[in-house]
Amino acid sequence: MNKLSGNSINNGLFIGRARRLIIPEHQVEHYSISQDDIETEFLRYQTAIEAVDKDISAELQHSTLNSKDAEIMASHRDILHDPEIHNLVRSAISQKLHNAGLAVQESFKAIAAQFEAMSVETFALKAADYRDIGTRLLNALSGVSALLPDDWDADQIPILHDMTPSLVNKLAHAKIGAYLCQKGSYNSHASILTRALGLVAIANLPNLPDNVKDDDLLVVDGDEGKLVINPDEETLEFYAQKVQVEELLRQKLEKLKASASQTAGGTRIELCANLGLPEELDSIANLACDGIGLFRTEFLYISRQNLPSEEEQFEIYRQIAERMAPAPVTIRTFDLGGDKLAPFGLGEPEENPYLGNRGLRFSLLHHEIFHTQLRAILRASAFGKLKILFPMIIDAEDFSEARHIFNHCQEELYSQGIAFDSSIPLGAMVEIPSAAIGTDTLAQEADFLSIGTNDLVQYTLAVDRNNENVSRYYIQHHPSVLKLIRMSVQAAQRQKVPLSVCGEMASNPLYVPLLIGLGIRELSINPTAFFTVKAIIRNCDAKLERIISDFDFNTSVREVEQLIYTHLKPYYQI
Ligand code: PEP
Ligand code: MG
Repeated sequence: MNKLSGNSINNGLFIGRARRLIIPEHQVEHYSISQDDIETEFLRYQTAIEAVDKDISAELQHSTLNSKDAEIMASHRDILHDPEIHNLVRSAISQKLHNAGLAVQESFKAIAAQFEAMSVETFALKAADYRDIGTRLLNALSGVSALLPDDWDADQIPILHDMTPSLVNKLAHAKIGAYLCQKGSYNSHASILTRALGLVAIANLPNLPDNVKDDDLLVVDGDEGKLVINPDEETLEFYAQKVQVEELLRQKLEKLKASASQTAGGTRIELCANLGLPEELDSIANLACDGIGLFRTEFLYISRQNLPSEEEQFEIYRQIAERMAPAPVTIRTFDLGGDKLAPFGLGEPEENPYLGNRGLRFSLLHHEIFHTQLRAILRASAFGKLKILFPMIIDAEDFSEARHIFNHCQEELYSQGIAFDSSIPLGAMVEIPSAAIGTDTLAQEADFLSIGTNDLVQYTLAVDRNNENVSRYYIQHHPSVLKLIRMSVQAAQRQKVPLSVCGEMASNPLYVPLLIGLGIRELSINPTAFFTVKAIIRNCDAKLERIISDFDFNTSVREVEQLIYTHLKPYYQI
């Protein structure tokens, strides 16, 4: 028996067998080749073409695509075999002495840019098709296309170096129950998805690949962030019992389904769910929640190479609106950038992506993408109650620019005689300190606000949310963060604009009483935390409000911890 400690990414217990996965990173290396290597690089390019061609055939054969989408896929094959592209790539290899990856990247980017410059929608779509094929070829060249086997047994636990949002998605589809990583951080989007999909996970396990062999028996204790390798009989029995106790608690909490989301003093707290992937919709609809408070639409892009078309998006948004009606669904426009990579060919990689073209900035820069998404949401608004939320807003002016484009989309649909909800509310994320400090002015422009604590913490404390080397500085309960939240709550109350919290703090039992005490009346949370959070809300009372309103946040982290671990404990203990 051996034990390792890491950081829990999601709670829960899982007992199963190890399966090691070596995932090559998709990287385009910028090196030149010698004359002698030209033939080898030609061959690598040719092999990649054949691999992508095979993938397309398999997708066409096994997919449930409608005929229009199948046609698109078939047209991708034409691009793959386009002689003009072949000439470009081959001459980049033989004349410029680029390696195959670099040659593919540059050639496809150049062609996509040519189509883009024509600024006609059909050509923009064509550009996306070229980018798509370019990415597929790059994946094939770096071996990523064959990265994930699909033959998983229900008790197998993938052992990985690192996790990405698309990989979590694929693993959840393969019905695995837990995974382990050598690297990772609690606040990355891969981790958020992990919790949304209910996978038990631990990251930052030291020397993981050296300590675990294929088929080792593993106990993944996500509650404590501990991994037990080949447990002895006594330990195994202990954990088997713990699994049973957790299941009983889960069943008990689920009985809260019919109970109101209100405090012991009768204050109503709107309790919504965060949606990451459309596949989660069924389980969210079963929670009997007050709606979807955050749909992270950029995740629609994670398991594909290009962004979905207006029609595809419309279908998805319509289905969600209809399924949740009459409850509202808040659709956040693409928050691309940061760790949610932009589509291939749309801009160079940035040195500081979290401070770069992320969120609304990306949308304002790539007008056509923003326009397509807003049209799709507006069209779907005729089928339920939709709201639109803009990410990474700095201030009221930033917001107005987005509203201006939105107004234009509305006029366009109106003139085309297409139905939409003309009173659809527009909201702003409060996730940059300037938005929290400027909530009074922002609230005069926006119809509603939602605090994104994940980024608010990152930007207030200048700590990369994905960098485990600085994770000890990522303190969600830092008094400066709490002061910003209080400031925002008070400004929203003054301006009579609804304000929710949709960041991960709202899903963390430790912080729920704190947020309610700060005056938050709407939470949007991870669906797997739903009944736990509801139980905590029902514990909250007027005394809690007094404790928090008397608390002076001009203090140290230690003092806040004292508050949480002593005075607030009776509220989150269930
Ligand atoms: C946040 O920043 O808290 C948030 C909800 O957005 P995301 O985690 O997608 O950045
Ligand atoms: Mg955010």
